[in-house]
Amino acid sequence: MAKPLLRVQHIEVFYHDFHALWDVSLEVEKGLVVSIIGANGAGKSTLLNTIAGVLRPSSGIIEFDHKRIDGWMPYQMVAEGISMVPEGRRIFPRLTVLENLEMGCYVPKARQKRDQVLKKIYELFPILEKRKNQFSITLSGGEQQMLAIGRALMSQPRLILLDEISLGLAPLVIKNIYQTVKQIHSEGISALLVEQDIQRSLKACHKVYVMQSGKIRLEGRPGELSQEDIRKAYFGV
Ligand code: ATP
Repeated sequence: MAKPLLRVQHIEVFYHDFHALWDVSLEVEKGLVVSIIGANGAGKSTLLNTIAGVLRPSSGIIEFDHKRIDGWMPYQMVAEGISMVPEGRRIFPRLTVLENLEMGCYVPKARQKRDQVLKKIYELFPILEKRKNQFSITLSGGEQQMLAIGRALMSQPRLILLDEISLGLAPLVIKNIYQTVKQIHSEGISALLVEQDIQRSLKACHKVYVMQSGKIRLEGRPGELSQEDIRKAYFGV
């Protein structure tokens, strides 16, 4: 196995008095795609938001490239090389496609290479170059998802967090989006992927974690886990 880039160890997360994550540990090795699957409310987004610095764990440790990062602010995570595509895309509808992309390179290190990175993103998603001067509200759902991924890539992450990137999209569009995840991975960027679609997720990843009720119930390589074990862990039955 490759070296861990991200190590989450025994984290607990609360929303006021609601205990959302229980003793969660997870690793993303350098250059791999790791998936988290689980039903609605399992805690997947809470986990990604905690890694991205949007939420703070009440205990436990998060390390990125051997540096302790739990408790850092989101902009510090981005500067360190962790970038998130949030659930629901959260693009800026009244900004153009190009302005949205530029929002992704506000950290100084990324700003220096802005033109070079933008060129790469346009190669990955040619439609974004064609639409660069349009307000992003005018894009289709799939194009908006490409824009959200492009914006996250503008900061030149070493780890990209992808939260339900297939949500609400047509099967063909989902296929295209997952093709680009492959391309992103082939550029050496590690990915932590949250997905409700079990089969889609297993196909895309090197390792999978199954969450249920705020806990990791199962982990392993897709080929090593039986459908029955995954189903049991997913539904908690
Ligand atoms: P989904 O697939 O539906 O997005 P999820 O696995 O991502 O689900 P989370 O959104 O992480 O699940 O939610 C985990 C639990 O935390 C749920 O019970 C949810 O109701 C609760 N929760 C999420 N956000 C908040 C919040 N801001 N305040 C209180 N509870 C919250």
